[in-house]
Amino acid sequence: MDICKTVATIYNNCYMSTNNKELFELSLRRRGFSITSQRHMVFKELIGQEPLSMRELYERLRGQVDRASLYRIISVFEKSGVVVRIPVGWKYKLELSEAFNYHHHHITCIKCNRVIPIEEDETVERLIKEVSEKHAILPFAHQLEIQGFCRACRPADS
Ligand SMILES: [Zn+2]
Ligand SMILES: [Zn+2]
Repeated sequence: MDICKTVATIYNNCYMSTNNKELFELSLRRRGFSITSQRHMVFKELIGQEPLSMRELYERLRGQVDRASLYRIISVFEKSGVVVRIPVGWKYKLELSEAFNYHHHHITCIKCNRVIPIEEDETVERLIKEVSEKHAILPFAHQLEIQGFCRACRPADS
């Protein structure tokens, strides 16, 4: 599988439209949060990105948003359903929620901590639905995370 191509497919399709901006503003407002230029800036930085750690996000916004503000903004985004956390070991990375993104899953490299988005797979999606139904659950949302070694980090003898 050509990972770069897959990533490009997912993220090039990621809509940068005005709908995105409207949905962002609506998400915040309906939780009682106001729209500020810094919140806009952080949101824009997350569009079309692979999942970022708080540190990576901070680096990208260096000089524009201080660390304390960034933590507060991300907290607001999480409460508003704009951003979700992807567990990476005992830490986490951040990405825009599926309201702003296509449904996808992740593979995390446990050595270099790279988080690779994977395209939706029909078989997996169907299986998740079947398993849910077997337990009399109407599935609403799910997350699927695969952990392992990426090509660069794979031990030599495997
Ligand atoms: Zn790796
Ligand atoms: Zn899925």
